Amino acid sequence: MATTKIPHATAKRLPIYYRYLHFLSDAGKQRVSSTELADAVKVDSATIRRDFSYFGALGKRGYGYDVESLLAFFKKTLKQDKLTNVALIGVGNLGHALLNYNFHQSNNVRISAAFDINEDITGTIQSGVPIYHMDDMKEQLTVQQIEIVILTVPSNIAQEVTNELVEVGIKGILNFTPLRITVPNSVRVQNVDLTNELQTLIYFLDKFGQEGESE
Ligand code: ATP
Repeated sequence: MATTKIPHATAKRLPIYYRYLHFLSDAGKQRVSSTELADAVKVDSATIRRDFSYFGALGKRGYGYDVESLLAFFKKTLKQDKLTNVALIGVGNLGHALLNYNFHQSNNVRISAAFDINEDITGTIQSGVPIYHMDDMKEQLTVQQIEIVILTVPSNIAQEVTNELVEVGIKGILNFTPLRITVPNSVRVQNVDLTNELQTLIYFLDKFGQEGESE
């Protein structure tokens, strides 16, 4: 079966749709209109209809979308029907927080290995996750067939670690370091720069505040 290429912006909305459909399904709802969905997930209904058309899901006028069949599709597309093991590199403050984070009650993503150089924590189990030494990273990632990592190392070594991850065949990196890491086209990087996000928020609030002031 041919697979349609889904635009990145659409792909990013998939988990939002999925979570809400799950909620509807749990509540026993069998169908949902794009307008109802739009209200709930705060995405306009035209965008929802366009997004869903990529999945071949065409809502019927006066009926809407079938919740269970959409849910089954999302489950498959988001690989919610199989467990994805993820590794965490760098168990500092942020790394520890992520080890404890339950990824929105997702039963399908779990951190199964973590790596650090700090010998106070290597060889221990933190929040149920074994912490290996960086010397064992390549071997463990290969043995455990891990393809996705969360990067929470200091930024000055982020590129060096990334190069090793690329060598071992990692396919995706969730990069929490402020460094924009360089990877080959075959590797996908999602950047999560918390400081940057906060500064953007402060900037918009500042701007809004100034505009609202009369003096
Ligand atoms: P953060 O809040 O960003 O996690 P932190 O102050 O807790 O910061 P950092 O100095 O940023 O700690 O280091 C994060 C983690 O990365 C630490 O646990 C540190 O031991 C680990 N680390 C440092 N160098 C390396 C390395 N070369 N390889 C792997 N982990 C490293």
